[in-house]
Amino acid sequence: MIRAVIFDMDETLLDRQGSLRRFAAAQHAAHQNALAGLSESAFVKRFMTLDNNGALWKDEVYRQILDENRVTAIDPQTLLDEYIADFHIHCQGFAGLAEMVAQLTAEGRRLGLITNGTFPFQLHNFRALGVAEQFDAVLVSEQEGIRKPDPEIFRRALTRLGVTADEAVFVGDNPEADIRGAQSVGMGTIYRPNRFWPECDFADAVCVDLADLPAILRGFEASQ
Ligand SMILES: [Mg+2]
Repeated sequence: MIRAVIFDMDETLLDRQGSLRRFAAAQHAAHQNALAGLSESAFVKRFMTLDNNGALWKDEVYRQILDENRVTAIDPQTLLDEYIADFHIHCQGFAGLAEMVAQLTAEGRRLGLITNGTFPFQLHNFRALGVAEQFDAVLVSEQEGIRKPDPEIFRRALTRLGVTADEAVFVGDNPEADIRGAQSVGMGTIYRPNRFWPECDFADAVCVDLADLPAILRGFEASQ
């Protein structure tokens, strides 16, 4: 029996790329005068490229965009403060998220989240997805003082959910942080492919559409 499902957040439950694009477009609209000469599409495109799936923190993203375009009417810190305060307003989950969470909960499975990132920023973004009430454990790396793929953060999540590793599966999009990390403590793994990490041949299963997850879990149980 799979008693608990633990998820990564960014690009697993949260459509981070789509959410980031909407946020950047709104930010450009709010500062059209200060960003004069930089079109919305150019601003959004450069923002997404420099962000590189979260590889570059936004202080550096904004500094580079403003430098490259010789913008001095607004400073990077103002834009960064807005990002930290307002990104959650634009956060949206992937299609089928609410239905999938409702079904797993109805099946009696406990739900957890482990996300690498800053606190409370990541928590605000998670709450914006509208499913946080159904989660029994939420671990944000900055608050925990450890990050994926450190096995300890996976063990902590299992302890808080009251399950053993073989009673839980982890769902994530990052082959090293999520899949290798969860495997290192003996959890089953489900990989969510995307254009940044299109393949992971060592996960136990692949989930392209969140609506397929309940059936994938039943497949796990049938093979146990
Ligand atoms: Mg992720």
